[in-house]
Order: sequence, then C-alpha cells, then structure tokens
Amino acid sequence: MIEEIAQNAAALKARLNEGNCFGEAVTLVAATKTRTPEEINAVIAAGICDVGENKVQEFREKYDLVRGGNRHFIGHLQTNKVKYLVGKTYLLQSLDRDELACELSKRCQRAGVVQDVLLEVNIGCEESKSGYAFEEAWAAYGRIRATSGLNVRGFMAMLPLAGSEAEKAALVQKMRALFDRAKAEDENIRWLSMGMSGDWELCLAHGANMLRLGTAIFGARRLPAQN
Ligand SMILES: *Cc1c(COP(=O)(O)O)cnc(C)c1O
Repeated sequence: MIEEIAQNAAALKARLNEGNCFGEAVTLVAATKTRTPEEINAVIAAGICDVGENKVQEFREKYDLVRGGNRHFIGHLQTNKVKYLVGKTYLLQSLDRDELACELSKRCQRAGVVQDVLLEVNIGCEESKSGYAFEEAWAAYGRIRATSGLNVRGFMAMLPLAGSEAEKAALVQKMRALFDRAKAEDENIRWLSMGMSGDWELCLAHGANMLRLGTAIFGARRLPAQN
C-alpha cells in the first residue's frame, strides 16, 4: 500500500516537471483527508513537499505525527477554529469570506505573524460550495490585500463535476484571467490552485499552477467511519 502511494507520488511529480501550459512550475499539494500519518510521511519522503488538510480536527491530530512538509489548509474554516491554525499553516487556501479574513487578521496580528492566503472563488456558482462569487472576487482581493496580517498569494477554485470539457476549460481560463490581472500589479501573486484528481490535466492545460490531489496519489478514500 505504502509502496504504491510512493510510486504514484513519484510518477506524478515526474509528469509535473514539464510545468503547465505556460511552462510555469507546478506545485503539487497532496490532499490528505482520511489518510494516516504513515501514508502522508511516505508521500513527503517521495518528494511531495506540500500537504493539505480540509478539516481542523485532522490538521491538529496529525500535526506532530507528520514529519516536515509545507502544511496547507484547504477546507471550509469556521471562525472559532482560526486560533488552531495561526502560526502553523503555510498557506490557507480557503479564504472564502470577509468575516474569516477579519478574524484571521486579528489573530495573526496578535501572534505577530503574517499568513499567506489564497482567495477561494466559487467559480461554478454552486450552492454546495463556499467562496466569493466570481463577480465579487476582484473587489474582495483589493480589500483583503489591504488587511494587516494577511498576504494574498493568489486564488483557489474547484470546478463543478457537471459540464462539458469546453465549459470547464472556460472556467479555468476565467480564473486564470483574474490571476493574471492581480499578478500584473502585485508581485506577491504566485498561485492559481485548481485541479483535483478528476480534472487536473484540464486545469494544467488552461493555466493552473497548483494542484490539490488526493485519490490520484493515495487511491480511493476510506469511509470516515473506518478511519
Ligand atoms: C479532497 C480535496 C481535494 C482532492 O480531491 P481528490 O478528488 O481526491 O483529488 C482537493 N481539494 C479539496 C479542497 C479537497 O477537500
């Protein structure tokens, strides 16, 4: 099992060496929900330096058991749990509302740290997903860029499951245009995080430069009850 995970990780890493459609370097983040510290350590040992949890409880439980790696947070975050992540999170990819930015800013300033963040955009206008509406994203970027304790490094989005390849490609291109607009005036902008196990090739072909992969690395997820 562990061997297979290490092989998957190494093969993906080799494949990503080519970069995205613009020849930019691609950062691969292993999405580690439901995975054991042993499995996560195998991925890090195979050369994937970035790992991301989407639940605060799992982030905390595994924090000291995972060795090294840049620790990302990629899930919906309740404001009352911000305190558990401040000072421990390399990149908070799921900044999805002003209320969260406000609480994060307060906590970061108190702790004397600056938190790198991505703004999450609900690019498919899905009710089940969080994030700023695409139409609001530019204004939100301006506000959060001006917020103390936070450093905006780019944008994160999830493609909807439904839709044709052409429709999905258009959504990635829309996000890439937003990313480029910000990058043109802000040297801190570095990442467009789009691409999961089912759609990462399409996302790379249209300008994403950070992927978040779970199943493609670890295999099918266990049910949380068995965990
Ligand atoms: C689980 C998860 C992923 C990875 O999903 P896979 O389909 O298993 O690759 C990516 N992003 C977020 C926010 C996730 O929670």
